[in-house]
Amino acid sequence: MKLEFQEYQARKVVNVHKHVDGGWFWDKYSAHPYVGCRSGCEFCYARGGRYLGRRDPDTFDTQIGVKTNAAELLRKELARLAPDVITCGDWQQPAEDRYRLSRGMLEVVRDLAFPLFIVERSPLLIRDLDLLTEINRSAWVGVVFSISSLDPALKRAFEPRSPGVGRRLQAMERLAKADILVGTALMPVIPIVGDDQGHLEEVVGATKAHGGTFILAGGLTMEGVQAARTMEAARHLDPTIEDRWRKHYNWQADGKPAYSSPPAYSVQLGLTVRDLCARHRLRDRMPRYVAPGPLAINKRIAERLFLKAYDLELERVQSHRIWAYRKAGWAVDESQESIAQTYDNRGEPGLRELPGVGKSLAGTIADWLTVNDGG
Ligand code: SF4
Repeated sequence: MKLEFQEYQARKVVNVHKHVDGGWFWDKYSAHPYVGCRSGCEFCYARGGRYLGRRDPDTFDTQIGVKTNAAELLRKELARLAPDVITCGDWQQPAEDRYRLSRGMLEVVRDLAFPLFIVERSPLLIRDLDLLTEINRSAWVGVVFSISSLDPALKRAFEPRSPGVGRRLQAMERLAKADILVGTALMPVIPIVGDDQGHLEEVVGATKAHGGTFILAGGLTMEGVQAARTMEAARHLDPTIEDRWRKHYNWQADGKPAYSSPPAYSVQLGLTVRDLCARHRLRDRMPRYVAPGPLAINKRIAERLFLKAYDLELERVQSHRIWAYRKAGWAVDESQESIAQTYDNRGEPGLRELPGVGKSLAGTIADWLTVNDGG
């Protein structure tokens, strides 16, 4: 398959998220140097329409857009933004071997002392361990390696050209030895053929054995061309799978699949992974980086609100209760006044002035502030 690089000058490189990605990656910004990916994994959500825009999804792995000015833009744009966690870089090969744009972006992140988060399938980022160590010293670095399973048959079927899982685990170990927070995005968990206890525990155990400290698990999403390709790959693996997958995604022959697995399935997956993590002494959420300062208390309280929302998801409570915690999390996270100060000055009525924070949540936050200072 011929590979073509399409170099261009981007107009903008940083995405500013409306809200922090609470409970998951905790990032506020993201910036990536390439569009498309040579690995071309069948299940890659980035091939779904919502990520590629007007680009032809079939060229996702043959035409790689290269933002040649990514590092310069990053420097300009970050200089205007408040420091917060940025997801940055993309160590895909051969693009990064040739252009080294991710390394250039890391230099910017280091110079401007932003905390950095990386989610990767490529172990090539170890080449930049010197910069990662520097950033970790002056701000913070967190890395997650995406590992769907350790099963070679699933790797061959769904991600035949992605870097080997063993190399990802070796890279994880090197990061852990350099005191960098590292864990696994157990994503996407492949329904029916890769979601049993045995498959999941292999990844959890390998993460623990290689110095990872947490697991974030998520199911396979299905959309457009990506859904059709993933189904085709599944059929090659096991010709009997189609009916079960169609049922799982409520996918009629002439219709579209549901975007995600059924809620009950996702809850069961979360509970199984929680249990496995407990057994292997790992966390099933990523700890949040919080910079010191007067608003640190807001970030810590927001973290607790988001984690509580996830717990409630696993308890299958009504969605309005889950959303109440999420919305309160965003309100606290985005408040420009220390909520400890708010509470000292105006008590619970002051907390209730935050959007989405009612009587009961104001009481909860007040308890957290007084009992253990939100820690
Ligand atoms: S390596 Fe990641 S970005 Fe590249 S195709 Fe695979 S899942 Fe998508």
